[in-house]
Amino acid sequence: MTDSPTVLPPGSVIGMLGGGQLGRMTALAAARLGYRTHVFAPDTDGPCAQVTNRATYSSFADEAALARFAETVDVVTLEFENVPHQAVAFLAARVPARPGPEVLAICQDRLAEKAFCRRLGLATAPYAPVRDEAGLAAAVAEIGVPAVLKAAREGYDGKGQAMITSPGEAVQAWQAIGAVPAVLEGFVDLAMELSVIVARAPGGAMICYPAVENRHRHHILAETLVPAGVAPALTAAAESMAGRLAEAIGLEGLLAVELFLTRDGRLLVNEMAPRPHNSGHWTLDACATSQFEQVVRAVCGLPLGSVDRLADAVMTNLLGDDAATWPALLAEPGARLHLYGKAAARPGRKMGHVTRLYPLGRRPDANTAGAGAPAVKSP
Ligand code: AMP
Repeated sequence: MTDSPTVLPPGSVIGMLGGGQLGRMTALAAARLGYRTHVFAPDTDGPCAQVTNRATYSSFADEAALARFAETVDVVTLEFENVPHQAVAFLAARVPARPGPEVLAICQDRLAEKAFCRRLGLATAPYAPVRDEAGLAAAVAEIGVPAVLKAAREGYDGKGQAMITSPGEAVQAWQAIGAVPAVLEGFVDLAMELSVIVARAPGGAMICYPAVENRHRHHILAETLVPAGVAPALTAAAESMAGRLAEAIGLEGLLAVELFLTRDGRLLVNEMAPRPHNSGHWTLDACATSQFEQVVRAVCGLPLGSVDRLADAVMTNLLGDDAATWPALLAEPGARLHLYGKAAARPGRKMGHVTRLYPLGRRPDANTAGAGAPAVKSP
């Protein structure tokens, strides 16, 4: 089906593929603008279904369920980029799918993603494909060590990744990630990790959120610092790279682009996600338009909203038992608490986040739970 930039007015139904917290926060933003959300997810009682008025629980391979779902929605979007692109293609033949299956096909495969960046002239870490054991040896010889072996598909938060510090560890690393098609990446000497979220509407209008700094612990995002503490020329370069990617990929919706800043000052694209992103949660409390409202605007053909930053911010993920600190967080002035409604607090599981706000230009270097610059009560 050919998408047209027709406006889907409030009252329309947004079909959401995936039932996690990103879908939940999108559904809440959609409701605020008068839209309904119908979530399609494999698991019952996820964070998203708790706040939507309609849910279908089925496998993404169930075409009968997908066809019924398509009949009830005006547009389909997603909160999880590992939805099989065949399911999105099936839906796209019936109803506009934003982003479309071609975008997903690239973002779901690290090799396709890196090749796409390189074709655009955007730098990535040095990499080589690994399809079998012979390819593994060749890749290690080409890239050298230290290197990171990453499964080409379905990895997130450091899952499906193994470090190789000497060539002798390569086979063991490949076994550790399940001996699946992979990419071997040279280990980058990182000065900082950055991300940029860009929104693009069906007619081609684009708007880019300011670049932010991300700090990881155990491969999971721990904190996002806003704005990123780098020179304006670097944030402008990061934002322009994200815009070029969004345009070239034909994005409709949001694209989060994760970048590495090397110690010698180069920006490398690490990966892309065509959906709201954990590093954009700060926009709920410190930006004129949250990333969740923005994705609703983009997929419904509404004017894109202002990305003006109203405060400095530090967003901290609440992983596992961190969420049990909610009473203290609620009592802390300037701290904005978001909990996702998940019952079981497994270690490393994203249970919620807290965003601390600071006057513009006065964010502390890292979140020290209230220390540093005084938090402000509201943007
Ligand atoms: P990814 O799943 O690709 O986002 O990787 C998770 C995290 O591992 C990144 O955010 C980095 O902190 C680290 N990492 C991944 N790839 C590399 C690399 N080539 N060099 C250095 N650190 C890396």
